[in-house]
Amino acid sequence: MRSLTTKLILAFLLVGLTGAVLVALIVRFRTQRAFDQLVVNQNQQLLLVNLAEYYRRAGSWAGVETVFRPGANLPGLGSIPEARWEARRALFVVANAQGVVLFGGEPHLHGRTLTARELRKGIRIEVNGDTVGWLIFSPALDRWRAGTPEGDFLLSVNRGAYLSAIAATGIALILGGVLAYGLTRSLRELTSATQALAQGELGRQVTVHSNDELGALAASFNQMSTALARSTELRRQMTANIAHDLRSPLAVIQGYAEALTDGKLQPSQEIFTVMHTEALHLSRLIDDLKTLSLAEARELPLMPQQVSPDALLRRAVESFRVQAEGQGITLEMQAEENLPEVRVDVERMAQVLGNLMRNALRYTPGGGRISLSARRAEQGVLLQVADTGTGISPEDLPYIFERTYRGNKARSADEGETGLGLAIARSLVEAQGGKISVESRPGEGSVFTIWLRG
Ligand code: ADP
Repeated sequence: MRSLTTKLILAFLLVGLTGAVLVALIVRFRTQRAFDQLVVNQNQQLLLVNLAEYYRRAGSWAGVETVFRPGANLPGLGSIPEARWEARRALFVVANAQGVVLFGGEPHLHGRTLTARELRKGIRIEVNGDTVGWLIFSPALDRWRAGTPEGDFLLSVNRGAYLSAIAATGIALILGGVLAYGLTRSLRELTSATQALAQGELGRQVTVHSNDELGALAASFNQMSTALARSTELRRQMTANIAHDLRSPLAVIQGYAEALTDGKLQPSQEIFTVMHTEALHLSRLIDDLKTLSLAEARELPLMPQQVSPDALLRRAVESFRVQAEGQGITLEMQAEENLPEVRVDVERMAQVLGNLMRNALRYTPGGGRISLSARRAEQGVLLQVADTGTGISPEDLPYIFERTYRGNKARSADEGETGLGLAIARSLVEAQGGKISVESRPGEGSVFTIWLRG
């Protein structure tokens, strides 16, 4: 079953159907009663008048049965043909003032004294204000008696009504129970998983039982839980990496400073250069961390201005021309004609392209090539930095924009890597409404693409 909606509709349908069946049965039963009542009402007035008249004339009920004989044309019963006599006669009962049955009804009623409750179903026959007898519609007394076709029919209808009510309730209960259990099972699992997650059991997964909305909820919960576990792990790793990266240059500076203070080392230009380099590295790391946290919190002050993509690339090429030449790497640039201007913070974009260029130069061996290009794209411009370097392994590729992720773990911060370069590039690009992506093949090179709104 695909949808919760379908399940609910089915449940409602079931309840509706059960109600309808019950109503149908009850209506049928009630109709029967109402019909009986109608027959009595139609006949009783005329019969009543005639019976009272008989009593008034005869002074008693003696011989009353002779009046109701086959062939007699009785007011209220019509001319009774012989064949229908028994059936018509069975329709009513005449009892005397004490409730003793004198005439009519089923043979078993003859001579019986009716109870006060039974008499209440009849009508008084009054002569000069005295109750002289009772006229009772006999099915009212007899209808439940088994053995008579009417009694049997009504009993079976009644039994059927009870049985179907019980069966319908049972089915509704079972199906409702199954549906409710199915619906709440996923919810129960999700609740306990959410509680576990809240207590720190990150990465907790639930079973996806169905294809419906609850199944989708369970799947997204699993996704969220995995992402949460991963980002917590990354954060933990990042803290450890940053602590390590901060420690290394500090340890060098501290070591040299102590040795110089103790007089174990003679001050020299080389020592000061090393200390200066390490201090620079430290300050760059701290700057990077600050930029990253500000950019991620969308609090980095930006000064957007209209600039041609061409100018952005040219600045990057100029900044790294000397270094590229020194490494024997060819640096080239291509920009389509008449590209629309983009609205960006020029300094921040220089930082982004600088990070990409530094990586490209770091991972491209001598004799390689780095190409910068700009071209028109849907609703904007694409800037690309492509190199013919080592490329990035498919396992690393999805994570290289994460903070402090270093593809080649063997490399260390000594080479100026912080693992923050691409994370900063992404935050800066996204803070300016752009997007950054990468494609790479190990051994062939990498292509970093930035999309900026034109
Ligand atoms: P790092 O400071 O370590 O270079 P980055 O965030 O700039 O940190 O890059 C993350 C990882 O991505 C690098 O460690 C490297 O493995 C990989 N990488 C980035 N750019 C390139 C590139 N042009 N060629 C090959 N690998 C790259």
